Amino acid sequence: MISKDIYQAAHALYQEEIVAIPTETVYGLAANIYSEKAVRKIFELKNRPLSNPLIVHIGSKNQVEDLTDHIPILAEKLMDTFWPGSLTLVLKKKEKVPDFVTGGKDTVAIRIPQHEKTLQLLNLLPFPLAAPSANPFGSISPTSASHVVKYFDRRIPLIIDGGICQNGLESTIIGFEDDAPVLYRLGSITVEEIENEIGPIQIKKGTSNETIAPGMMNKHYAPTTLTVVTSNISETIHLHKGKRMGLLVFNQKSTNLDVAHQEVLSAKGDLKEAAANLYSSLHRLDAMNLEVIISEKFPEEKWGKTINDRLKRASHQ
Ligand code: AMP
Ligand code: MG
Repeated sequence: MISKDIYQAAHALYQEEIVAIPTETVYGLAANIYSEKAVRKIFELKNRPLSNPLIVHIGSKNQVEDLTDHIPILAEKLMDTFWPGSLTLVLKKKEKVPDFVTGGKDTVAIRIPQHEKTLQLLNLLPFPLAAPSANPFGSISPTSASHVVKYFDRRIPLIIDGGICQNGLESTIIGFEDDAPVLYRLGSITVEEIENEIGPIQIKKGTSNETIAPGMMNKHYAPTTLTVVTSNISETIHLHKGKRMGLLVFNQKSTNLDVAHQEVLSAKGDLKEAAANLYSSLHRLDAMNLEVIISEKFPEEKWGKTINDRLKRASHQ
């Protein structure tokens, strides 16, 4: 059922149910972090490996102390600058933070989302919410309540509709190694914004095996349609001539008549707007019975870096 009523959500969460919630990044599947029953349901529904930790969502900064004893100075600075917002911090966990939430790791990923409804819900509850993206593991993330319906209709009791996700990309994840910040996942807060606050940051490139964050896996965020990324759209269209093609472009449509459908992410050439539209465009393209989705490579700066990161994983064979 879709609802806008956070009291209904709170009730379900108390009953150890899971509820889909809106955030400014993507929709999440939420559960009480202290309910093993509810958290296990998330993993089952998503078909997510149990070793992949979940992000813990809190409603205010003073709840951080319930989860960790150690906050590096730069973590404090990042919280003060970017919370509520699309930045997740991975910190040493307190013993009471359940292993089934952290995938057995001794760290916990924490964030305060910037979405009015979900903040109200979080501040109503006496427990934080574990909430990974509300999609089957590896597929395109949901940025509207209808995407969640498409994935999980009738398999979850409640979807809270909070409109279209404003940022539309997952949070940026930063961890600490000997108190020095390390970027684990590119996301909605750009590297430029982070470095502007705390100076140069090391960026960990993920591999499929030694995975720190699932979002770093080679294949992730993927449509079911074959997807290719290119710096030369017209050449790639030519290469796929005869197939039913869809295009994903930054700001300018191709004039090629062989193309069945085109999604323009930002007609005015704004990378933040393009980022916000990325997943909804991929959802539309993936539903069109195309034989191939051809995406333009984006400028490698600001949100363009994150878009390219997601497209690379979406297109991984
Ligand atoms: P999702 O909410 O589906 O985007 O996934 C949550 C992301 O947070 C995944 O990429 C997790 O691996 C990452 N994450 C959560 N907890 C930790 C942790 N303790 N260490 C590293 N990454 C984490
Ligand atoms: Mg996810």
